[in-house]
Amino acid sequence: MTHFDSLSLAPALLKAIHEEGYTTPTPIQLKAIPPALKGQDVLGIAQTGTGKTAAFALPTLHQLMQHPAATAGKGPRALVLAPTRELAAQIGESFATYGRHTSLRHTVIFGGVGQGPQVQAIRRGVDVLVATPGRLLDLMEQRVVDLKNICFFTLDEADRMLDMGFIVPIRRIAAAVPAKRQTMLFSATMPKEIRHLANSLLHHAVEVAVTPTASTVDRIAQCLYPIERGRKVDLLAHLLKEPAVTRALVFTKTKHGADKVVKRLRSAGIASDAIHGNKAQSQRTRALDAFKTGRTTVLVATDIAARGLDVDNVSHVFNFDLPMEPEAYVHRIGRTARAGASGIAISFCDNEERGLLKAIEKLTKANIERRQVPTNLVALPRPVAVPHEAGRSHSGGQGGHRGAKPSGHRGGKPGGKRPGKSGTHAGSHGAGHAGSHGAGHVRSKSDSGHTSQGKTSATSTSGVTTAHAPSPAKPSRHNWPGFRGSSRR
Ligand code: AMP
Repeated sequence: MTHFDSLSLAPALLKAIHEEGYTTPTPIQLKAIPPALKGQDVLGIAQTGTGKTAAFALPTLHQLMQHPAATAGKGPRALVLAPTRELAAQIGESFATYGRHTSLRHTVIFGGVGQGPQVQAIRRGVDVLVATPGRLLDLMEQRVVDLKNICFFTLDEADRMLDMGFIVPIRRIAAAVPAKRQTMLFSATMPKEIRHLANSLLHHAVEVAVTPTASTVDRIAQCLYPIERGRKVDLLAHLLKEPAVTRALVFTKTKHGADKVVKRLRSAGIASDAIHGNKAQSQRTRALDAFKTGRTTVLVATDIAARGLDVDNVSHVFNFDLPMEPEAYVHRIGRTARAGASGIAISFCDNEERGLLKAIEKLTKANIERRQVPTNLVALPRPVAVPHEAGRSHSGGQGGHRGAKPSGHRGGKPGGKRPGKSGTHAGSHGAGHAGSHGAGHVRSKSDSGHTSQGKTSATSTSGVTTAHAPSPAKPSRHNWPGFRGSSRR
């Protein structure tokens, strides 16, 4: 087994790595760090959760250490571009962690917050600048940032940059970086636009890839509930009350959908927050902190907001809505399999999403195990109708109904246990976590939730205990022909 010690990293970096509890490099680190330390360009095909941040941060720090540290007015020597504020902040934290025994300085800049402190930090002098493209261009135009001293240029999550329309800004930024530099580009997928971008930015790059798709998916117990759209939130609340759900990420298709789910969960006494692009940065930071520290156990997110979030010990990922792109399914469920851990992914699929499900199963080469909706599902209280919430599948909205008893169980969760970064990766991410709420939990749901196929529709409807049972006119989808198989192909 290869140890970090054999990677010829500076002792100050090795010390920080040991303090973090890392013992062995992850596959992407093993493949990327040696060529990067030699100064070669690197094209890394890896998604979040594989340890890719250290794969570029460690060689960058190592090489920066060979030269004097930053002085005011000189401009940064390393630039890392990231698509989202959260990812940029996390990359910044990684530089802080790995570089804590060096004298190197870094700062993170992103939009949505005042630029004053960011400008001051840059003026004081930084070695490493981590930035989202928009704010960086702003500060370049204001002549606050000068990239003429950049020797190390990294683009992280390049495919997400493409999705977010950042390719032109990236090209403008790259044009301001000296041609003589080391460039590293990381991307979870390699669409042709990213390939073109890589070809234009990298020179004789070493291409390194890890295949998290299969390996990540294999480590995660997955199941799927065919369910009408209007009952998804009831099912979600039901499943969230399972004691095994200690930290859950819930994915919705839209920002509005995320807010709506949170409102409904809160009305059932389940502490939850939403995180998406319409939230102010301070709200996003607060929500993320509450989730990371265990004050809330449920975070509802859209794909873009969740991309790159580094939260340990996510016990469950819920796909409240199936993603539009099948690759996003793998990214999403990978949240519960950080750094070698395994976890549980539970998806809901309504009739309109069947095509999306097919694409996911084709990509992952697996048939996701189907579950039947528990018969004792309780309809959550409907929120008082507000203008933009009316007209959806449950427009009947008789507000203020309190049929469902708030569980209140969230308050009693072991929220005090902060799954901080230090020491958690090697230790608590191990097999114990997987074993405790792995397939066993999924199995137990099956045991309790199954009804005979023929009776499901009637029983689950009648099993709803408030006056807001789904319309009996709505047929149950459990009998869809596509919802049979459960074996891995
Ligand atoms: P990343 O893919 O960079 O977002 O990293 C995913 C998670 O893995 C982060 O929580 C890192 O702290 C952790 N991690 C990175 N490298 C290692 C390693 N060699 N051993 C254990 N954990 C790691």
